[in-house]
Amino acid sequence: MITLNTFYIDGAWVAPASSETMPIRSPATNRQIGTVAMGNAEDADRAVQAAKRAFETFSMTSKEERLALLRRLAEVTRARLDDLAHAMTTEMGAPITMSRAVQADAGIGHLEAFIAALERLDEEEILPNGDVLSREPIGVCGLITPWNWPINQIALKVIPALAAGATCVLKPSEHTPLSAQVYAEIVHEAGYPAGVFNLVQGDGPTVGAALARHSDVAMMSFTGSTRGGSAVARNAADSFKRVTLELGGKSPNLIFADADLEKRVAEGVAACFFNTGQSCDAPTRMLVERSVYPRVLELAQAAAEASVMGDPEQEGDHLGPLFDEIQYDRVQTMIETGLNEGARLLTGGTGRPDGLPEALQSGWFVRPTIFCDVTPEMVIWREEIFGPVLVITPFDTEEVAIALANDTEYGLAAFIQTGSEERALRVARRLRAGGIHINGRDADYGSPFGGFKHSGNGREGGVQGLEDYMEIKVRPPFAA
Ligand code: NDP
Repeated sequence: MITLNTFYIDGAWVAPASSETMPIRSPATNRQIGTVAMGNAEDADRAVQAAKRAFETFSMTSKEERLALLRRLAEVTRARLDDLAHAMTTEMGAPITMSRAVQADAGIGHLEAFIAALERLDEEEILPNGDVLSREPIGVCGLITPWNWPINQIALKVIPALAAGATCVLKPSEHTPLSAQVYAEIVHEAGYPAGVFNLVQGDGPTVGAALARHSDVAMMSFTGSTRGGSAVARNAADSFKRVTLELGGKSPNLIFADADLEKRVAEGVAACFFNTGQSCDAPTRMLVERSVYPRVLELAQAAAEASVMGDPEQEGDHLGPLFDEIQYDRVQTMIETGLNEGARLLTGGTGRPDGLPEALQSGWFVRPTIFCDVTPEMVIWREEIFGPVLVITPFDTEEVAIALANDTEYGLAAFIQTGSEERALRVARRLRAGGIHINGRDADYGSPFGGFKHSGNGREGGVQGLEDYMEIKVRPPFAA
């Protein structure tokens, strides 16, 4: 049994003020595998006070000192990559091969990109009018991360805070405490001064809300549901904090008849199902030019039926379970909703997949599912499902495809598949989303990630992600 009963505050592992604990369960078997201590407002305050004290000196460090610490952080992260991967496989069910190559790798990929961004960043610049602009760390940052990409999200928030010279308190999802614990050990080993980084485990409405309300916190960065994001923004309003939000998505994938259909349709299905569909920017709505609609349905069905669910502890390119019972029930309900709304089930459906080994039959495995002939008023077309469920609809013209793609309250990502560069660029310009993927190519580490509309505000990653953690100060040039 794993027991996480301390928090990392002021450079040390300390006992929580609260005596509450929560079970940690395996998503693959639904067995309890440990317990985690749940913090309260007093724990959050203790961490904020440590971060506030540390800010006095850490905010005055030079860029070179912070770069040296980040390079040391990279060395330690590399050495602990396998521990991060295993922690995520255990706590949220990401299959180990993917967990190592993608989930844990994000901890290094984002770090290298932030090092490059900090190297390039001008902390001071002369404005065209001769005044001097300086960029300075914002203060104490409250960082709230979700369970679906635990280390990716921690890296996108903790690293820019440390790179900027800010200090922080991390509250990871209560459901994924293991990888956060390993990350705190990594930051400690990298030699950050006490109080610069603090970890308090606990739930959102308690620890998360205490951070968002705290008068000594200058900024909140949140990734999760729209409901959680709006609660953070409301709690932060009275103290006028900066709030950056990375929320949900229902990203369109436009398949034009001139695309390499064999390749792009299979990729689109795989991208929708990746991480068992638990990614905010997954291409979950496939829009298909009518002339190739029957062929695309055949290809999509074949791709879905080739995807296999399996034990996350085993190497391979199979999919893992959903991360918990709530998510399982939510996906089942959405599949039932699709059936009741009259969408045509192409493959999959409710229940668990056939052929699961005995040991995994209580795990949160679902059937990769595709609905076609889905119409824009259907719930399954509009709402984020967060499971391996793809919805498909045909379109007649480029104009209609763009309108359908943009007809969503979200705007995180959009995907375009076409053989024509001219069309790709023309359509990309008109899609209301923060990230555009064309013909299977995604943006790399170091590009800003974030959304339009209800998908949030602010950008994570690279120079823009770093600047979010900085304040701007101006002064005239010195004259005696
Ligand atoms: P939440 O938004 O509840 O969880 C994300 C993080 O926010 C967790 O650390 C959570 O804490 C915290 N949180 C929740 N409520 C508050 C609050 N009032 N104040 C401060 N922090 C808070 O997501 P769920 O786990 O409930 O998932 C529900 C749905 O949200 C999913 O089905 C999916 O659609 C979407 N989602 C989107 C994500 C994305 O990447 N954009 C990530 C996760 C979910 P804790 O859970 O510990 O209580």
